[in-house]
Amino acid sequence: MFHSLPSCMEDLFQAWGRAGRDGLPAKCYLYFSFGDRVFHVRNIFDQHNFDSQRQTSSLLRFQRVLDFVMSKECRRKKLITYFNPEEAGLALCDDCDICKDSVANTPLTNDYTPQITRIIEFLQVVERPITIKYLAQVASGKMNKKIRENRDEHSSIFAVFKCTVNACELFLRHAVTKDILREVPPAHGVNNNCSYLQLKLGSQYLQYVSGQTKLMYRSL
Ligand SMILES: [Zn+2]
Repeated sequence: MFHSLPSCMEDLFQAWGRAGRDGLPAKCYLYFSFGDRVFHVRNIFDQHNFDSQRQTSSLLRFQRVLDFVMSKECRRKKLITYFNPEEAGLALCDDCDICKDSVANTPLTNDYTPQITRIIEFLQVVERPITIKYLAQVASGKMNKKIRENRDEHSSIFAVFKCTVNACELFLRHAVTKDILREVPPAHGVNNNCSYLQLKLGSQYLQYVSGQTKLMYRSL
């Protein structure tokens, strides 16, 4: 049982593998809050303070964990294909939380490439730190004092989604797991216990801006 997010898929696999080692049926649980990720990401940046390559590779490994916990694909299939991508055609287990939940199984049939492109273009020009929560508020068209102060109700991404702030935030997290967007500590936050992460562009954003890859997601 995990009470927080593991830092990589290997840790998760090893711990869960232990559960069934005696050959008997076992149940595996992972409890987490998205707030945990601030601690993890900050740790990665603190540990490898002067090594941006190691920062990036550890961050990408951690993003795979976020992808796993947020995914609506069969857990067993997802775990096995992480280690062996050739097994992608594997049958679903029919026994995990996703397989047992028909709502979670909703296919990703909607194309959100135009919306993520606008968000990418917004992040390319904005100079102040933007958090995922704030971006979700602007993109879902919520008005509040901070948005008014920044005049973001006039920005190109205001109300680009017709959905709740929470649904928009989940969508943006989906974009983080694909490394279109990245959450990193603000420049002053390394070794400084910062309590938030700011959004930057990830390594994959160009593929989506150029239309090479589509960003599919379930209906918002
Ligand atoms: Zn399953």
